[in-house]
Amino acid sequence: MSERDVAPGGAAPYPLGLRLHRRRVVVVGGGAVATRRVPALLDAGADVLLVAPELTPALRAHVDAGRLRWEARRFAPADLDGAWLVQVAVDDPAAAASVSAAAVERRIFCVRADDREAATAWTPAVTRHGPVTVAVLGGGDPRRAMTVRDAVRDLLAARSGSLPTDPAAAGRSRPGGRVALVGAGPGDPELITVKGLRLLTEAEVVVADRLVPGLLLDELRADVELVDASKIPYGPARTQEEINRIIVDRALAGRFVVRLKGGDPYVFGRGGEELLACAAAGVPVTVVPGVTSAVAVPAVAGVPVTHRAVAHEFTVVSGHVAPDSPDSLVRWEALAALRGTLVILMGLKNLAAIAATLLAHGRPGRTPVAVVQEGTTGAQRTIRSTLDTVAADVTAAGLRPPAVVVVGDVVNALTAGA
Ligand code: SAH
Repeated sequence: MSERDVAPGGAAPYPLGLRLHRRRVVVVGGGAVATRRVPALLDAGADVLLVAPELTPALRAHVDAGRLRWEARRFAPADLDGAWLVQVAVDDPAAAASVSAAAVERRIFCVRADDREAATAWTPAVTRHGPVTVAVLGGGDPRRAMTVRDAVRDLLAARSGSLPTDPAAAGRSRPGGRVALVGAGPGDPELITVKGLRLLTEAEVVVADRLVPGLLLDELRADVELVDASKIPYGPARTQEEINRIIVDRALAGRFVVRLKGGDPYVFGRGGEELLACAAAGVPVTVVPGVTSAVAVPAVAGVPVTHRAVAHEFTVVSGHVAPDSPDSLVRWEALAALRGTLVILMGLKNLAAIAATLLAHGRPGRTPVAVVQEGTTGAQRTIRSTLDTVAADVTAAGLRPPAVVVVGDVVNALTAGA
């Protein structure tokens, strides 16, 4: 039988979701097409055998990490023994045809990147949305498939809050609910992670911090209970207890609570305490890291926290306790001795004392400093100064929290002439 006898011809394809976990899939070819196909196969848990004389660096990285097996040679029909599926990712039509022929003989479905008509299976354009996978076949036109896929993806992204995303999980967690500690990013609402945004659209209760981008909250469905943690009327200690109580109570009532926090939940965000409170109450809790202002705010102000030949380290420190306070856990004199980048959060109030301490312990007065207020937002303001005058300059400029202070030569690394 020739391979064309089993080609689908004009008949419609029959869609399936292949469950490839631990099942052998052979990929023939080690170039750009294979590089694009392999990750989804690995994601599906397939036992991938790659047959190719040479590999791209990305494929070699999978081999080096032990994620798949590589035969460094040309294809031989016996490579298909025990396989459930074969992906042909070679340019040479004769080589591809010989793989197809071996697959047809063994009744193994064969995807061909080079020739859709000769293939016995087609790969759809895919979008994944949590547990939901949408696969689109474009009737022989991959670009049409991608256009439809993009439209579906946008629709799902916009409406995911109203989708039954994981009924099984929701059913399971009903009696206990669950909590996600989600990093909202530094201010620009687009700097939340994909996962964070998905969970936010699935939330039934959102407990939000003061620094969380307002636009993210604007888009919540009307039936979502929004708790503004910055409006809880107690002192700092009681307020945290109260937040913990709100999160745990809602989850114990069977609801999905997203605790949305500025930047990353564990960078001076008390996320750890909230996690422990959930754990103590037996509430399942996950953490979704966020883009921290400590790195992102300097970046958008033109300051890379490391730079080749300039800084090989960056240290992130909280300035909310004065350097001479008995409550300080920071060894400022040790930080003064470092050459690299110092990123200070919550440092404006104590900036004069911090700068004086760094100077007193040897950091040069001409060390460049940038101070960035409300970074990544429309209200972003930056001043550049040096360690000896920065406190006065910040006062003169009227900068206010939230602001990130960056100390070190990286401040000038990207400025013209540096
Ligand atoms: N978890 C947060 C930090 C919380 S501490 C994170 O990972 O980013 C709050 C401090 O973060 C503020 O006082 C300020 O120093 C800094 N900060 C947060 N967002 C900021 C922004 N958009 N611009 C400047 N500083 C910011």
